[in-house]
Amino acid sequence: MADGVDAGPGIEIIDTLLGGQTGMTAAYLIEEGGPTLVETGAQTSAQTLIAALTDRGIGPNDLRQVILTHIHLDHCGGVGDIAQAFPSARVVVHRRGARHLADPTRLVESSIAVYGALAPLYGRLTPVPAERIDAVEEGARIDLGAGRTLDVIDAPGHARHQMALVDAAHGVVFTGDALGVRFPGSEVYPAIPPPDFDLDMALTTLRRIAERQPTRLLLPHFGPVDAPQEAVATAGERQRILAEAALAGWEAGGEEGVWDEVSRRLPMEAVVTDEPGRERWRAVLWADNNPPGLIEWIKGREARAAEGART
Ligand SMILES: [Zn+2]
Repeated sequence: MADGVDAGPGIEIIDTLLGGQTGMTAAYLIEEGGPTLVETGAQTSAQTLIAALTDRGIGPNDLRQVILTHIHLDHCGGVGDIAQAFPSARVVVHRRGARHLADPTRLVESSIAVYGALAPLYGRLTPVPAERIDAVEEGARIDLGAGRTLDVIDAPGHARHQMALVDAAHGVVFTGDALGVRFPGSEVYPAIPPPDFDLDMALTTLRRIAERQPTRLLLPHFGPVDAPQEAVATAGERQRILAEAALAGWEAGGEEGVWDEVSRRLPMEAVVTDEPGRERWRAVLWADNNPPGLIEWIKGREARAAEGART
């Protein structure tokens, strides 16, 4: 989907061009009521995004707020730079992520560990002044102005600090990475990086998104999905297959077994059959983060089971 295309009633998609590539990371702009931005993309995308907002006539003091679905750097890394460029904007984030925007030291360190050699693709995160951060959680209603609102639902599974945003009046849900990644013209495939993945939470989140009966989902990677119930079901099924593969692999051969069984049962290439989609996955190596994410999940389960056995 091209930059600037209408993504829903009064919602515009801005391609934040991660790594200079189209169709990787989206921000969404809602102009009605005073401009609100959902997601910023990575810090390396900040200048692209500032230029896109400036092109639309949004001056330094015009941006009302920036809402982040979660605090992975491909969604939030640009927020400090955007906050500096638009000094009136509030920054809205889940309660579990708020302190990491004010002091990103640990977040950046752990992100670099996950992204490895590709960390420079994302950049880092400029701190956001604490007094400009609005921490929200389940049940919050975010005022966009002009009578327009977004309802927050906690959306853990992909990350504990993830929230989905429901535009109930227009049937739209901003999902964060709850479904995984579906590049333009391609199929949805799970994105379950360490350290937070949890299958039960992920499936509950998908069920709760579906319960809102949306007519359109807006994915950060990338763009609108117009058959939400089907997409949610497919996304859940694929996450379940990967989780089951990981459990079987762990049983058979530990960490190496997880890698083997994931690549045997449902590798990215089995789902993403179009070459542009595969090229996007390879450019960011996100599929390679899935086995480590699954291993962390299994280790966490075992630690909790051992803890439970002792008490
Ligand atoms: Zn993401």
